Amino acid sequence: MNTVARKDARYQIWEVHCSRDGQKTFLKNLDIKGSIIINKETQSCMELLVEGLRALQVEKLFKERNISYEVKLSDSASFPGNPALDRRSTARPISSGRVRSPIKQRELDWKDFYPLHVIYQFMSVLETTYPSTCTVSVIGKTAEGRDIRMLKISNSDADNTGVWVDGATHAREWISTSVVTYIADHLARNFTNMSANFTNKDWYFVPVVNPDGYSYTHTTDRLWRKNRARFGNCITGVDINRNFGFYWGRGGTDHMSSDPNHINYRGVEAFSERETTAIKDIILYSGTPFKIFLTFHAYSEAIAFPWCHTAEPCPDYVNLLEGGTAMAKAIFETSGRMYKVGNFKDIMYYASGTSIDWSYGTARIPYSYLVELRSKQDKFLLHKDEIQVCCKEILSGVKALVEFADKTNCLNCNVNAKKLRQ
Ligand SMILES: [Zn+2]
Repeated sequence: MNTVARKDARYQIWEVHCSRDGQKTFLKNLDIKGSIIINKETQSCMELLVEGLRALQVEKLFKERNISYEVKLSDSASFPGNPALDRRSTARPISSGRVRSPIKQRELDWKDFYPLHVIYQFMSVLETTYPSTCTVSVIGKTAEGRDIRMLKISNSDADNTGVWVDGATHAREWISTSVVTYIADHLARNFTNMSANFTNKDWYFVPVVNPDGYSYTHTTDRLWRKNRARFGNCITGVDINRNFGFYWGRGGTDHMSSDPNHINYRGVEAFSERETTAIKDIILYSGTPFKIFLTFHAYSEAIAFPWCHTAEPCPDYVNLLEGGTAMAKAIFETSGRMYKVGNFKDIMYYASGTSIDWSYGTARIPYSYLVELRSKQDKFLLHKDEIQVCCKEILSGVKALVEFADKTNCLNCNVNAKKLRQ
């Protein structure tokens, strides 16, 4: 007998005994569509995370197919001891709405996931330690008043091209912040000894694009995805990666929505959000011709490039495929992990208003990639033991991409356009 699920809960944990053929396939298809998240799978059983707002809908689908399930937990955010969340996610307990008492000063060591203030402190320390190459600036303020901070690493050569590297666009994808800070740390410490492929670039790092959402996942709801924007009297949040102004709001609705309660809510208009505006302004007005745009997400272990809004190949399809393959090869050689490579629409799903479609389509950054990090097994709740190996494999991948990009010319390229204008 099913217990009654709270319909207002962020996420519930359901257990399904898969006794009949086809049930697992059906659930896996729902997972691909984003309706549920398969959190754990054994031979006869699946543990699902079901978004509270979708609980009724999923319940109906299950009833139609006579799938029996048990609600193990009606609100994941209110249950700090839940092993499914606790075991794999973090050292920090998940409390219901309460901010933890101040923790002792901690330093980033890539052995754990860290809250916003530790990330920002890490950036400040790099700036103080390497003042000739590292600069921290505030590129925007969020709806809740937090800084969006950026670390620039550069030798200030006027001929440099730009590399954009960001993480935590989606709040719950903590590993993306670990990876961005790891790459920044490596570059800052080794910059003067690195080859020209690295030093001929201005590196722009934003480890936490979505500080409000990121903070919320550390205090209240580990699986929150969007920012914390208000719609009317409610905080519903906007999916930042649907708010960019290239094909914004157009096309199908599977992974993009005009409904503020939807997990992929696109916002009231393109660039309605401070996070997307901040990125747009730096990319378009910094004066640096960007060559590479890398946005890190989790958890599909894939290297995806434009387009997201159509299955049509973009003008640089072959180059992007080769650049992505160079990354994937370097990752594999580092850790043995296989990342898929391909056009986003082909290897992920349809989405419009994404940052890579905008960076490639509008800002004309030829090497625009969305990298889905680990892990397919643990989904958003990557075990902290895997942080360092993930960071190392991705650093190798980024190095391979940088070298590849300097060898190759692209069609859709603002770097070439700048040269032609001169
Ligand atoms: Zn994401």
